[in-house]
Amino acid sequence: MALIVQKYGGTSVGSVERIEHVAKKIATFRARGHQIVVVVSAMSGETTRLTELATAIQTPPDCRELDVLLSTGEQVTIALLAMALQKQGVAARSFTGAQVRILTDATHGKARIVDIDKQRVSEALAANEVVVVAGFQGVDEHGNITTLGRGGSDTTAVALAAALKAEECQIYTDVDGVYTTDPRIEPNARRLDRITFEEMLEMASLGSKVLQIRAVEFAGKYNVPLRVLSSFEENVDGQTGTLISYEEDGMEQARISGIAFNKDEAKVTVLGVPDHPGVAHQILGPVGEANIEVDMIIQNVGADGTTDFTFTVHRTDFQRTQVVLEQVAKDLGAREVNADDKIVKISLVGVGMRSHAGIASQMFEILANEGINIRMISTSEIKISVVVDEKYLELGVRALHSGFGLEQSIEVSQ
Ligand code: ASP
Ligand code: MG
Repeated sequence: MALIVQKYGGTSVGSVERIEHVAKKIATFRARGHQIVVVVSAMSGETTRLTELATAIQTPPDCRELDVLLSTGEQVTIALLAMALQKQGVAARSFTGAQVRILTDATHGKARIVDIDKQRVSEALAANEVVVVAGFQGVDEHGNITTLGRGGSDTTAVALAAALKAEECQIYTDVDGVYTTDPRIEPNARRLDRITFEEMLEMASLGSKVLQIRAVEFAGKYNVPLRVLSSFEENVDGQTGTLISYEEDGMEQARISGIAFNKDEAKVTVLGVPDHPGVAHQILGPVGEANIEVDMIIQNVGADGTTDFTFTVHRTDFQRTQVVLEQVAKDLGAREVNADDKIVKISLVGVGMRSHAGIASQMFEILANEGINIRMISTSEIKISVVVDEKYLELGVRALHSGFGLEQSIEVSQ
């Protein structure tokens, strides 16, 4: 018998039929003797609907009252799911975040979980009940309702799994796992059986939107094995999907686990900057002060006493960055500012890279064979990213996917 935390997202509980379907799945699982804590999101679209109601009255809405409002979405689904379970003959009890006492800080709208009181949940489990907990919400030390930010139910589930020392945290959603890349771009994308926390963080932050990044960080920190599965598939063995965990010794590692991409970036270059100490700071200082986040940074080797300085920013900050840089260029006596928002970043991700040489050159060769010009390159221990023209996104991702043999389920590494 194992203690499992299962989380069902908004589409999985989007209607009465879906809720009853979920209840049946849980009942089958329960019949195998597992103890189950279920975390649910609001019905799909509900959090957005409630936000719109609030902004129709007050813009921006009072943050304390907005949290009171938004938390009702999950209060609806916990009660309905508990009823649906009871109808299946499964004893079940629902709890809001405040009832469990999921203690958070007081940052309304993006609160962080500080502590979880295990007592009520443990008592209900001991009474053989399935415990249904509202995701996305908690309570601060003064008893105010808080919410954790969009997608926050994933974090609730992981935090509960960590606190209860659950065997596994299963995230049921509308996709059946984490893929080697986005199947809408590459139809041959393959579901991964396993991926490490580090890889998942790279994939998530680079644009795969399967899981809330905070939840993955949390799971990694507390070593909670996370599994992403589809709630729409009939099988209920809880063994399929993608398992996100730490690397196990002796595990055969694929060189590349996946290809992530990011269409939300833009690139700016300051040309002909005088090459002396402090220049990088003089350029990026004002950018940071304007609250603009910088991703990749490249500075060329200086020639004739000047150098070029290129970096990428989020596309929504593109105009603001240009304004800041025009001023910086003037102050520094730089030649000119170049800007381009028709770019994408494509990244190879894989812990296996650590022990395999030549991945970068293979990547560049594949892109060259397609006539794709690389604008920028950056690497970390488990990732190689290139910036290329936007029009090459599909071609680049597909060429790399097949070039690295990602459609095959077993890659023999040598
Ligand atoms: N209902 C919240 C949202 O839509 C939290 C969640 O679903 O995880 O963001
Ligand atoms: Mg979600």
